[in-house]
Amino acid sequence: MPTIDALSDRLSTYLSTEQIHQVRRAYFYAEQAHTGQRRRSGEPYIIHPLAVANILAGMRLDHQSLMAAMLHDVIEDTGIPKIALSEQFGDVVTELVDGVSKLTHIKFESKEEQQAENFQKMILAMAKDIRVMLVKLADRLHNLRTLGALRPDKRRRIGRETLDIYAPVAHRLGLNSIRVEMEELCFDAMYPMRSGMIRKAVTNARGNRKELVDKIANSLRSRLKEENLPSRVLGREKHMFSIYSKMKVQRKSLNEILDVYGFRIVVESVDMCYRVLGAVHNLYKPIPGRFKDYIAIPKTNGYQSLHTTLIGISGVPIEIQIRTEEMDAMANHGIASHWLYKSDSNNENNTNGSQRAQKWVQNLMELQQSAGSPIEFIEHVKVDLFPDEIYVFSPKGRIFELPKGSTTVDFAYAIHTDVGNSCIACRIDRQLAPLSSKLQNGQTVQIVTAPGAQPNPAWLSFVVTGKARSNIRHFLKNQRRSESINLGERLLHKALASLDKSIDDVDQDRIDQLIDETSLLEFDDILEDIGLGNRMASLVARRLLVANRDTDIDLESVSDDAPLAIKGTEGLAVSFARCCSPIPGDPILGNVSSGRGLVIHTETCKNVQDIQGNPEKCVILSWDKDINSEFSVELRLYLENRKGVVADLASAITQADANIEGISVEDRDAKLSVTQIQLSVQGRKHLARVIRRLRTIRGVNKIVRIKN
Ligand code: MN
Repeated sequence: MPTIDALSDRLSTYLSTEQIHQVRRAYFYAEQAHTGQRRRSGEPYIIHPLAVANILAGMRLDHQSLMAAMLHDVIEDTGIPKIALSEQFGDVVTELVDGVSKLTHIKFESKEEQQAENFQKMILAMAKDIRVMLVKLADRLHNLRTLGALRPDKRRRIGRETLDIYAPVAHRLGLNSIRVEMEELCFDAMYPMRSGMIRKAVTNARGNRKELVDKIANSLRSRLKEENLPSRVLGREKHMFSIYSKMKVQRKSLNEILDVYGFRIVVESVDMCYRVLGAVHNLYKPIPGRFKDYIAIPKTNGYQSLHTTLIGISGVPIEIQIRTEEMDAMANHGIASHWLYKSDSNNENNTNGSQRAQKWVQNLMELQQSAGSPIEFIEHVKVDLFPDEIYVFSPKGRIFELPKGSTTVDFAYAIHTDVGNSCIACRIDRQLAPLSSKLQNGQTVQIVTAPGAQPNPAWLSFVVTGKARSNIRHFLKNQRRSESINLGERLLHKALASLDKSIDDVDQDRIDQLIDETSLLEFDDILEDIGLGNRMASLVARRLLVANRDTDIDLESVSDDAPLAIKGTEGLAVSFARCCSPIPGDPILGNVSSGRGLVIHTETCKNVQDIQGNPEKCVILSWDKDINSEFSVELRLYLENRKGVVADLASAITQADANIEGISVEDRDAKLSVTQIQLSVQGRKHLARVIRRLRTIRGVNKIVRIKN
């Protein structure tokens, strides 16, 4: 049975006494915390964290990772709070432990490949510090090694999840030894019969073919020696899971696969790799099209090697990999090789493994860019070290990738443009949340839509994805255009009516001519311009009529008294001035302002005193007879301070069927306070009803409607 003392001995080859002491401290802490807990196998629980630490020690990871390994199940399984851990072991180790616990909570269920890939990226992104992922992978590996104690269905579930998620993640990070062991264990757990059969076949084949393998290896060795190329020639064992996958995916028979002989040649320098390649091509004929130079263009996980296939003695195919010692370490340990090979110094000033790993990723990216290959890498490994993306779930478990900082509206548009255009609310992890909420990795987001709902221009201030932004803009632009055309048409009709004409009196020729003159495309463009206030309706009306063949109007004596009726539902082309907040019943007029369309003020508003009587800027308006919309209005109330007075105000307003939009206290002393209430009403009569109710409340001294 492994012990902490045995581990300490192993660690003494690369950690300082102080660091080993810290690791031991974490061990004893965890041992105490897990007292009384047992593994499914019946062994004391502490066996598990100790084994995880041992796996990481094999990768020569730093003392903080090893401490996190010791403590990785403490928060989860013993109820010791995070804060207690950070007091004992500091923030870095605690964050590592917390990161591992969070990963444990995420459950993957979908079977689609694309989804599995996003899931892999998500958990990488969640592990902000790459060491979290390394601890998690070691944790999973040890659980796989002890899978035997579990029920078969549970074994299969863990096996499937590992093959879908954790083995590919290990692969992305280049942790080949871990990946291979995971795959072999999962294959055994999920398909015991098939793996047994293949194992037997491999063992038999090995016996039969040993002679030939030795012969090939020796001829390679002696040729390389003749050429004065110092190198190690190793026979390569095939893994059962990779044999099985090849049989399944490439539809090859077991014999076809086993008939290929694999060798690896490890040398000192890159230069030597190419010279060895020349030598082996000279010894046996290469198969055309099978040579791959992964040294010049590394694989996305940083793997480097030369690959070639030769035709050997009596026609057997020989697969050869040629690489340097460093590339070999990389091929086996991937990202972890940065702890493995360069932690030769215990000097604290030395950059640590994480920083070196990050640098490695950076170099790799540059390498790929200069090699001119698509930067697939950004799509794959970088997420953990450059977390620009977040991954969230739909309620059905689909995973969506979004840029960091995305909100629920971005998510809605990512699902579908229609969903975005009609979203009105959302739930994050089942809780109602504002549409502007920024999403976090791993959240489940549900969008609530309503038919007829429309994007809100305010969304533009918080969305981050191009898709959401352009869709909202597009929608608003279209909507604004159709509303402006509508208003323009009404303004033109009114202008024509004041000349005692209607649009039917205008010749189509004249309209076409006007379109030409204005270099616009269609009549709607002219109407839109009128609606936006860029063109005056009265001028357009005159120009349309002037060339009328039977023109009989007296352009000087126009009566302009038929007011345009406002419904309050005109949309973006019509807006209500903030300064005087007109409501139905107030005498109103419209200010045609360039680009903004029609802005409606009350007749008494100071801001429109100058333009009154100027027909170019001012339109006489009336309220439509049946109006169903609500309008904002502000009241100022002078109140005596009395407990519950605000509650009384609120209930009076509600009883009068009005809505409170906002309430604020402007001024307050011991006896009196001035309170502002913003409410929405249907019009003046409705407002009068509200005010009457408010007056009946004890302590209300004075009520004023605020204008300007
Ligand atoms: Mn564990």
